[in-house]
Amino acid sequence: GRHKDQQRRSGFHYQGLAFDQDSLNIFAGLCAVDNPKHVEEMLRALKANGLSCTRMGAYKPRTNPYAFQGHGKDCLPWVFDLAGKYDIKVIAMEVTHESHMQEIDRALAEAGRPCGVIMQIGTRNTQNFELLKAIGKQNEYPALLKRGFGITLNESLNAAEYLASEGNSQVIFCLRGMKSEFGAPHRNMVDFAQVPTVKRLTRMPVCIDPSHSVGSRDVAPDGVLELCHATAQGVLAGANMVLVDFHPAPTKALVDGPQALTLNELEPFLKDMEIAKKAY
Ligand code: PEP
Repeated sequence: GRHKDQQRRSGFHYQGLAFDQDSLNIFAGLCAVDNPKHVEEMLRALKANGLSCTRMGAYKPRTNPYAFQGHGKDCLPWVFDLAGKYDIKVIAMEVTHESHMQEIDRALAEAGRPCGVIMQIGTRNTQNFELLKAIGKQNEYPALLKRGFGITLNESLNAAEYLASEGNSQVIFCLRGMKSEFGAPHRNMVDFAQVPTVKRLTRMPVCIDPSHSVGSRDVAPDGVLELCHATAQGVLAGANMVLVDFHPAPTKALVDGPQALTLNELEPFLKDMEIAKKAY
C-alpha cells in the first residue's frame, strides 16, 4: 500500500521546470551531437511532441581512443542556437572535466542564454572527486550524477554527497545499470527497481537511463522493445526523469546507434510513459 503522507517534497526548479521526487521530465535526444541537420531534426520532433528538454553529448568519454570523441566546445554555439529556435529549455550534457563547464557557460553567454544546461557526470566519473567538487562548488547549473557501473549504490550516493556538500543544491541521481555478465544480453544489468530505494534514502529526484542500461533495440515476444519495457518499469517505480537516446538515422549515429530509438517512435514512447506515469 502507498503511504501518501510519506511523500518527501524536495528538489528544485530550473528554467521554470520542477525537478523533484514527484515530477517526471523526459530528456530524449542524441547520445552524441554529430551534425546540425540531425540535431535540428531531433529538436523539431521534440517541439512537435511538446517536449522542452533534451540530452545532447558534446564531450564523449569513449572506451577506444580512436573512436569519435564528440565535437566538444566547437558544436556548442550552433547547438545552443538551435535549442533557442525550438524552445528547448534544458539540455543534459555530459562534462568530463571542469573546463567543460566553463566552456558551456561561455558559449551560453555568447548565445544569449537561450536555454539551460544540466551538467551530467557519467558513470566513468562517478568517483572523480575533483570533478564532483568543481561541479558542486557552483549552484547555477544543476548536476545529474550517473551511478558508478561497478561500485555499490551506497558509494554512488556518497559521490552525490560530494556535489551537495560543496554547495550544489540541485542534484539529480541517475540509474543506468550495472556492468555485469549477469545482465547479458543487455548491455548492463537493469537496476530500475532501485528507483524507490534511492528516493527513500535521499531527497534527490531519480532519473533512469534505459538506453545505456539495455543498450539494444531487442524486441520482446509481445512486440515491444525491451528498452521501452525497462523505461515503463522505471516510470512505474516512480522515476522523475528519463534520459533516452533517439536519432533521426540511427545507422548514421556516431555513438551508440544500436540503442537509439527513431523519431517516429517518439510519439508512441511518450504515450507509453504517460500510461506508466498514470499507473504509478
Ligand atoms: C551518456 O549518457 O551519454 C553516457 C555516456 O552514459 P553513461 O555515463 O551512463 O555510460
